[in-house]
Amino acid sequence: MSSLQIALLLLLCVITYPFVIGMEWLIRARGLKKVYAMEVTDEQYRREQRNALFGTPIHPAVIAAAVLAGALRLAPETVFNVLLTFAITFVWTEVYHYAQHRAMHLRRLHFMHKEHHRSRITNSWTSISFSFWEEFFFAVGIVGFLAMVSQFLPLSFYGIVAWYLLYFSTNTLGHANVEINAPGYHDSFFGKIFTTSAYHAMHHARYVGNYGLLTVFMDRLCGTEWADSPEVQTRAAQGHGLTALMERFDTPADAGASASATPQSRN
Ligand SMILES: [Zn+2]
Ligand SMILES: [Zn+2]
Repeated sequence: MSSLQIALLLLLCVITYPFVIGMEWLIRARGLKKVYAMEVTDEQYRREQRNALFGTPIHPAVIAAAVLAGALRLAPETVFNVLLTFAITFVWTEVYHYAQHRAMHLRRLHFMHKEHHRSRITNSWTSISFSFWEEFFFAVGIVGFLAMVSQFLPLSFYGIVAWYLLYFSTNTLGHANVEINAPGYHDSFFGKIFTTSAYHAMHHARYVGNYGLLTVFMDRLCGTEWADSPEVQTRAAQGHGLTALMERFDTPADAGASASATPQSRN
């Protein structure tokens, strides 16, 4: 591996900390609007910060292992290869994250996901608070697939790093429990594609539904999107944060659709 590749992997080991600390500072400095107007306890902050110490470096460690073992074959770093690798990684992670996330809500696999869900009201630190096994299988699922693809189509190292930078930054915002988009965002062009902070905050508060990562496509395809996601986003953006974990705004008919999101177990 080149010294630049090693430097980028080391950057991925620590980049989440400035993202998280910067986001928490921004929230306080700007007084950003909360999705759930509810407090996070000091105990939760301490627990999440302990988890954060080991979580993020798992991803660059798995990438390094795959490259050094020759399993992840790298292509020349051209603009085309960077963009193609980024696109392949983006699409795969939307599908894989959704499948892993749904699987971890099943009784037998929920032990991996339980730690992340101890945070019913999220904050930026929640974005890097996972059990070892959840983080490990997420990294192996991403890098393992890319290694397979690279046997036929060598991939760009920078393209993979670029996706991780997008993921770490947006995942910080996704857990920040603040809504930065305008009211009615869900009806906009980008709102019909990408998730919001409110979207994932609802998953933590209600424990089910809205499983998607950066886009809403997998939830729409599988019928697991909360029907009142647009209403919650708009209320949050207007400064009317929710005040109870199970507060809902969907109609009885919508609630029936949302029931498909119910997992087999929460334990
Ligand atoms: Zn979950
Ligand atoms: Zn989460």
